[in-house]
Amino acid sequence: MSDINELHPLELEAPRFGIKKPPARFDKQGTRDDGERVKTALDSFVRDFSRTTAAYMEACVHCGQCAEACHFYVTTRDPRYTPIWKLEPFKQAYSREAGPFAWLFRTFNLKPAVTIGELEEWQELIYDSCTLCGRCTMICPMGIDIAALVGLARHGMFQAGLVPHELWAVAQRAEREGSPLGATPKVLKERIEWLADEHDVEIALDQAKADILVTLSSIEIMKYPRSIVAVAKILNHMGASWTLSSDGYEATNFGMLSGHTQWQRDISVKMIEAAIACGAKTLILPECGHAYGALRWEGANVYGRPLPFSVLHISEFLAENVKNGRIRLEKVDKSLTFHDPCQVSRRGGATQAPRDVLAALGVELREMPSTGDMNWCCGGGGGVVTIHRADPLRYKAFEIKMRQVEDTRAEVLATTCSNCRQTFDDGQAHYKWDKRMHSLLELVADNLAA
Ligand code: SF4
Ligand code: SF4
Repeated sequence: MSDINELHPLELEAPRFGIKKPPARFDKQGTRDDGERVKTALDSFVRDFSRTTAAYMEACVHCGQCAEACHFYVTTRDPRYTPIWKLEPFKQAYSREAGPFAWLFRTFNLKPAVTIGELEEWQELIYDSCTLCGRCTMICPMGIDIAALVGLARHGMFQAGLVPHELWAVAQRAEREGSPLGATPKVLKERIEWLADEHDVEIALDQAKADILVTLSSIEIMKYPRSIVAVAKILNHMGASWTLSSDGYEATNFGMLSGHTQWQRDISVKMIEAAIACGAKTLILPECGHAYGALRWEGANVYGRPLPFSVLHISEFLAENVKNGRIRLEKVDKSLTFHDPCQVSRRGGATQAPRDVLAALGVELREMPSTGDMNWCCGGGGGVVTIHRADPLRYKAFEIKMRQVEDTRAEVLATTCSNCRQTFDDGQAHYKWDKRMHSLLELVADNLAA
């Protein structure tokens, strides 16, 4: 069989299509006039205004503290990247259309109507310069969840056809083919056969019954396939009953990142139904940050009822099983620093799990200056890494990560999100930096006790 990279010469460029200046407006119809687009976006914003959103909108005291929490503001000092500013058209729509004094605002034009120009400008602010990392929320004295509001605002932007082209394209491909990077069931099967052969490991696919359903990130399938070998080695080492399923393996959720709620649901439901079909008691989510939020915290809501199995991020699964002794590890005599993926730790709550795994590996953990729930984002989350024109801004934000890592002087750098890993690899290549990001999952698989 041919080399895996010949089969799929994907690398980082795959989702990017080499478009230098994508059009500001993009959708499959492409024919709507400006007024219709503005109306569609505003109608969606207003639909999304819940009591919580309204409370957030009213609560801002304009202190500006959120600015210093945002990697895009801190590395550029551009006031447009102040987190709360990114919500300005959303706030304008709220004041004019849904707030308690909306009639007053409209009658006396106290807040001007949102224009197509503002929405086009806003596209860059809510897609290119927000990774939905939530660090600003931790700083805000009023507890305003700016990341959640940006996520909501993306719904209206998607409806209005104002999504960056690359992000729209990968989301649409995921809906059409079941994977944003072309990792179709056929490609997955070929990869599994190749990996099983090359690494001499059994990789369970489409077992009729299994206690554990494993899901993957398409970045793992196409760019970091050793992670599939790693998860198989660990589960086989435990003697677990597990499987991958051709009907529900893709955990990345570009429906959520782009703002298309139906596509978000479609992706989640495939995994949920695959887990139910094989009778799984546990569904393991891969090393992917946003996939964790999409299924662990939003899965039951989009499905419409409680999920009849538990959902664990792979780091939680590893932590649970090193603690109960089902995973036995050799010690690693090295110093290591760990990058917390925002959606797993700060937004997801699984901050301690990777540290428990690292303790079991016996590494000397050297925490970054700002770590755990307050870790700085890598700059590539929230779909930003797919947007070509956002590259210069993303590289600027990445400078914080390089400084953080260098400060620790650790020998090894690891994380538990393949999107962060991809962002680090790209940042490393851009800056010719001599550090390489490792996967916690692969570290565990490489150090299983005999
Ligand atoms: S969620 Fe993160 S990227 Fe977005 S505005 Fe807040 S700090 Fe900046
Ligand atoms: S920190 Fe909170 S209250 Fe202060 S400006 Fe930002 S969003 Fe408003």
